[in-house]
Amino acid sequence: MTDYRERGEAEAAFLQELERIGEGYTDRIRKNVPLAQYTTMRVGGAADLLFEPKSLTEAALVYKAALCSRIPCMILGNGSNLVISDDGIEGLVIRLGESFAQIWTERDPEQDGATLVHAYAGALLSKTAMTCAKEGLAGAEFAAGIPGSVGGAVHMNAGAYGGQMSDIVWRTVYLDANTGDLSVLTGDQHAFSYRDSFFLRNNGVILSVILRVFPGDRDAILSRIAELSQKRSASQPLTMPSAGSVFRRPEGYFAGTLIQECGLKGLSEGGAAVSEKHAGFIVNTGNATATDVWRLMNRVRDEVYNRRGVRLEPEILFVGRGFTEGSR
Ligand SMILES: Cc1cc2nc3c(=O)[nH]c(=O)nc-3n(C[C@H](O)[C@H](O)[C@H](O)COP(=O)(O)OP(=O)(O)OC[C@H]3O[C@@H](n4cnc5c(N)ncnc54)[C@H](O)[C@@H]3O)c2cc1C
Repeated sequence: MTDYRERGEAEAAFLQELERIGEGYTDRIRKNVPLAQYTTMRVGGAADLLFEPKSLTEAALVYKAALCSRIPCMILGNGSNLVISDDGIEGLVIRLGESFAQIWTERDPEQDGATLVHAYAGALLSKTAMTCAKEGLAGAEFAAGIPGSVGGAVHMNAGAYGGQMSDIVWRTVYLDANTGDLSVLTGDQHAFSYRDSFFLRNNGVILSVILRVFPGDRDAILSRIAELSQKRSASQPLTMPSAGSVFRRPEGYFAGTLIQECGLKGLSEGGAAVSEKHAGFIVNTGNATATDVWRLMNRVRDEVYNRRGVRLEPEILFVGRGFTEGSR
């Protein structure tokens, strides 16, 4: 029997529950796993515990064990909208990776010409959009350049160039954050609005999603994706680590334009800097810490508020020890 006395009570209860379930889960829980490698910002500390489920059943069993033992539990997608604390993440991180990447399509039995695109939550959004494009299905072009997973994109209703997930998401299968039970949301139940959804307020684990899209001209879809990709690489610092747009779009303004107008391009804190290419991005110039990004984000917020009277709200999520204020 493993000795868990050195760990917190909740963690011990969790590990004991896994040991009771058996199936070798305890051996697959990794301890003190550095997470920067799993994020696009490339900063932050370690997860106390990390589990990468290989199936829906595994995800459900381990999540339920986490809920029962009251250990904090966070879901990691492709890590492209996150800044992880330098002091790491307390409790369990469940990462939906390669085993959750399947995408397949079927004609909608409703016979209205729609195609249903099934995607597991860990599938890359870009790959999902390209699957649609190659099959001549229109509607997901906006998503081709967003570097998140399908689960992460539904979680915050990701969007770009006039499209957003709410335009195409039909149904989501997830694990409820209170009971751990398998649950389903359809249509309006997702409560989507600008960069917001049911999941931002209720948590839970998104397991798979069904998109509903319609046939279009394959060449036109592919050339729209190429056009958007060009626009993106011309305007965004895609060759440097970042977590995308730092701030939500304030009513009546563009965050990047406000920051640029305040002369803040290039402003830095340690290894974090406001991008010279797009003022709405903070980039890791090589040796940034999460604290650098946090401090710089707050300096930019204060400067814009003092000079323009506009309060910027972060779009990126600051997660882990010490990040409570300012994380959404
Ligand atoms: C260069 C760059 C460009 C970007 N451009 C855009 C853009 O144009 N539009 C846009 O909207 N975003 C953009 N982003 C931000 C980011 O790609 C999106 O927000 C994306 O949807 C995040 O998905 P993810 O899988 O990386 O989520 P993560 O960063 O891993 O997680 C984000 C949040 O979602 C939760 N989450 C993730 N997966 C699940 C799941 N399966 N179940 C429950 N919760 C989950 C996490 O717990 C966390 O709270 C950009 C980022 C970068 C780096």
